[in-house]
This record gives sequence, structure tokens and C-alpha cells, in this order.
Amino acid sequence: MRAVTYSGFGAEPRIEDVPPPQPNAPDVVVRVECCQLGGDVLKIMAGNGPVRDADRFIFPHTPGYRAAGVVETVGDEVTKFAPGDRVVINGFVNCGECEYCRRGLDNLCVASGMLGIDSGWPGGQAELVKAPQWAVFALPDGIAFDRATLLPNAALLVHAYGRAGTTPGFTTAIYGCGLVGSGAVGVAKALGASRIVAIDREPAAIDFAGRCGATDLVDSTEQDPVEVIRELTDGEGVDVAVEIVGIQATVQQAILSTRPRGVALLIGALQGLTLEFPDYYSEVIQREIDIKPCFGKTQAAFAKAVELAGDGALDLSPYPLTSHPLAEFDEAVREAKDPSNQALHLTLMQA
Ligand SMILES: [Zn+2]
Repeated sequence: MRAVTYSGFGAEPRIEDVPPPQPNAPDVVVRVECCQLGGDVLKIMAGNGPVRDADRFIFPHTPGYRAAGVVETVGDEVTKFAPGDRVVINGFVNCGECEYCRRGLDNLCVASGMLGIDSGWPGGQAELVKAPQWAVFALPDGIAFDRATLLPNAALLVHAYGRAGTTPGFTTAIYGCGLVGSGAVGVAKALGASRIVAIDREPAAIDFAGRCGATDLVDSTEQDPVEVIRELTDGEGVDVAVEIVGIQATVQQAILSTRPRGVALLIGALQGLTLEFPDYYSEVIQREIDIKPCFGKTQAAFAKAVELAGDGALDLSPYPLTSHPLAEFDEAVREAKDPSNQALHLTLMQA
């Protein structure tokens, strides 16, 4: 089968013939229709992105962790899928056996990793990809394959908001409105948020958050977001603040824009950030703000994201997508690296 491969960090991608994946007993092999070309994959392959454990990359390496397609074959233990089923894959692969997996905390699995990144599982930039059955989800009829590749991002936010235990009518602020932040806007709306304040420094990102359903937009180069949020909420702050940028300033702002007994969700600070709590820590104590780090997503959160999208509560339509056949992978990479190109790039594996 054809697959995109890299021979090492920083190497150019090539399209090669590689052996097709063979399923072990709990695995599903999927004929990939679409696989998203994530910017983080590009950075990792270039050797300048976040890598948890470089030793877990097996070269030649096939990237791609946001993939959807049709079941081709299944392993002996698989009962919930059959060839021909439309599915989407959670690129976060877990072992299914460790204590965390057994408790449903599979995002904390001791052997977890991303499909096509650091899991040891080849990714979805290939005609066929295999994943364990617990990371594969039936795709509702109304969701096209290209839109399905947005579900892994949505599931990240379903997991995060799940950490906050929201109830309909909740208020939220979102710091950082790129792909993850705009996904947070959509998920907050799907979960019944009554007020969604979106904060960014880039006018295009702020506009996009508005199109995704944010009720209030803040350009942090012009306004102090904490002041704006407190004004909008009678001085209280929001129930849930979400931090995605991962820098000291926005972590502090997110915490300070949370109401007493509210929750500040820290998603962004993965890359070696040293947090300081100089002046505002007393406020964290006096307001009893819960600071909750969020990592990846559980398989249950992924199932919930699929359900929300299938019901129509979660709108995946605002995102601009462009598609390239596999033979034009180089062109897709060129476009995806262009910061002026805001679209998400999909490889059409069967084209
Ligand atoms: Zn595990």
C-alpha cells in the first residue's frame, strides 16, 4: 500500500509502498478516506516540535493522527465493527490493560501515545491504518469523512470541559482561538454554555471564534481580558476559564477570570513552562479556584464528541478544509506551512 514516510527527524516526506498493516486480535484496520495534516506533526517531523519521547518514534515513520475511513478488516476479538463500517479514529492510542485504562482514565495510560507520532503505531497518512478497537468509533451518517477529522480536536475539549463538570447555562472564557480554542468555542456551545468569551491577539482568530459561536470577543492587544470578563459577569468571573496558549500571562489571566469555586482548565502549558504565582496566589486561595490541568482525551470523551456531532449539537462546519490527493502530499505540506493559509489540510488517501 502507499504511505507517507519520513526517514528521520527533519527528513523530507516520501510516498512509498509499504506492507499493509495486519490486525492483532483487538485491532481494526481502516481504509483511510481522509487524514488531516496537523501542524504539530509537521513541526515534530521537522525536529522542532513537542516530542514526549523521541525514542518511541520508529523510522521510517508514517505520520497522521486525525483519520477517518471505512473498516477493511478486523482482528479476532473485534465484535463491534465489521468491514464496510464508516469510522473515525481517536489518534490517542492506549494499551487497554493498565490500571488507568481499566479505570477509564485512559488518557493517562502508562503506554499511551499518538497514532503516527510517539505511540509506535504508524499513522493515518497511508491507504490503510490500524488502531485498537477501543480507539475506533462508528461515524454517524450525517458526518462526512473530512469533517470527522475534526472530532479528535473536539474530543480534547469535551475531555477538558468534563474535568470542569459543566452544567447547561455555564459561562466560559477561552484564551487562545486557534484550532484548539475555536474547537473549545464549539464544544462549549454544544454543552449549553450561556456565555462564551473568546480571547486572542490575532483579529482573524477572534473573528473565527465569533463564527464558531463565541458570544463575546476580546482582542487582548486592546483590552485587559480579565477586566472585560469581570465586567461581563457582575465582577464574579466565569465558571470555567480555558487556557490554550501556554504562556505565563494567559495562564494568570485565565485563573484570574475564573469566579470563586470556578475551574481554570490548563491545556496549553505543555512545553516547559515554569509557572509563577507571585501576586495573585492569595486570590486563588481566597476564591477557591480549582486549577485543573488537562491532557489529551479519554476514549469516553471521544465517544461523547461523536455523539454531540451526530446529534447536531456540535457544529463542525465552520472550519475551512482543503483536500489534496496523496500524490500531492508535498503541495499539502507547503500550504500547511504557510501561516497565511488558515485552512486545515486533508490528504485524500484513496484519490
Ligand atoms: Zn493503559
